[in-house]
Amino acid sequence: MRLVLVGPPGAGKGTQAQYIASNLSIPKISTGDIFRANVSGGTDLGKLAKTYMDRGDLVPDEVTIAMVRDRLSESDAQDGFLLDGFPRNVAQAEILRDMLKDWGQALDLVLELVVDDDEVVRRLAGRRTCSQCGRIWHVEFDDKKDDECDACGGALFQRDDDKEETVRHRLEVYQEQTAPLVSYYADEGILVGVDATGPVEEVTQRAMEAIRPFMG
Ligand code: ADP
Ligand code: ADP
Repeated sequence: MRLVLVGPPGAGKGTQAQYIASNLSIPKISTGDIFRANVSGGTDLGKLAKTYMDRGDLVPDEVTIAMVRDRLSESDAQDGFLLDGFPRNVAQAEILRDMLKDWGQALDLVLELVVDDDEVVRRLAGRRTCSQCGRIWHVEFDDKKDDECDACGGALFQRDDDKEETVRHRLEVYQEQTAPLVSYYADEGILVGVDATGPVEEVTQRAMEAIRPFMG
């Protein structure tokens, strides 16, 4: 199964990606996570990406695409993958399509996680991430009173780009650059919208129901 998740920042892509990828036994490939790992590791890629991420802008396509090409070439991604956060504009989508075509592959399905703006802002304002295992939490919805990950005991942190100013800009970037992907994939006939409101488990169930008809 070759799957893409799209949706605004805070829609729950990372949260759902954890469960969907595990249900389908495919690797979850989150470009945001790979960039953040490079930033913490102090690599050249991380230094470059950080300047864009701090502003809430997209990292340039050449850099992002090269990184995704490398990751998709790894052995665990040959029989399927779940992309979270890529593609993020039509140019990336076109290159992804050509890249997969060269390898005799194609996307099976693009799931759009649908939530309104107010909910997105509420979700981003309370987002916390585990510095150790990467699990995503929410201060209010997960009733997090301490800054410790309930899964591994690691310290939770708030992402720099989840500050109000940056969030507003990321939502604009989404509307201008990423939202056009919805009609791009609808035209390709592989887009399915999923209502991403309500409890996490219910959203996962809806996503799995949407995926089932596309499974080989
Ligand atoms: P969110 O989960 O809130 O949507 P991500 O973790 O996916 O955010 O991305 C964080 C940042 O990493 C983005 O604001 C952008 O700077 C960079 N980024 C992630 N994926 C891409 C991509 N496909 N193209 C360009 N930049 C990206
Ligand atoms: P994205 O990857 O799309 O930016 P995340 O998966 O990081 O979104 O989720 C953003 C925030 O919203 C996190 O704090 C997460 O715990 C919370 N969240 C995700 N799904 C739900 C849900 N169904 N209900 C309430 N909060 C959620």
